[in-house]
Amino acid sequence: MVKIAISELSSKVKSKGLRLTNQRRIILEELRKVASHPSADWIYRVVKRKIPHISFATVYRNLKVLKELGLILELNYGKEMSRFDGNPINHYHLVCKICNRIYDYEGKPTIGLEGKVSDELGFEVEGHRLEFYGVCKECKKERRR
Ligand code: ZN
Ligand code: MN
Repeated sequence: MVKIAISELSSKVKSKGLRLTNQRRIILEELRKVASHPSADWIYRVVKRKIPHISFATVYRNLKVLKELGLILELNYGKEMSRFDGNPINHYHLVCKICNRIYDYEGKPTIGLEGKVSDELGFEVEGHRLEFYGVCKECKKERRR
């Protein structure tokens, strides 16, 4: 995972007229530590250990700000709770329908796909998402038992 230094992010945030407040920095740091694509609820519980008085609403609001700033990704799965990703660079995911774990696909995104779609449909493509759904290795093992 490519990680930009927090100090560098701080200036990026300032250029947008916002501040990387201490709260936001801690949320971002905790999110970047894990590869599990946690929910807001999970992030709240972890951040609370460092900022005991923080509310869920504040954590949630700050997650939205970090997303607006392009520092994190929000992954939506219909009526399921959103999951967050500390790596904002486009990458694909594998979603297990049994354990709900979200894995990173380590391969490169298909960049040529965007040009292809834009040429074919005259659609101005700004990005794309790709998700693979199914059963993960761990759950496949469980099934065989
Ligand atoms: Zn699974
Ligand atoms: Mn990811």
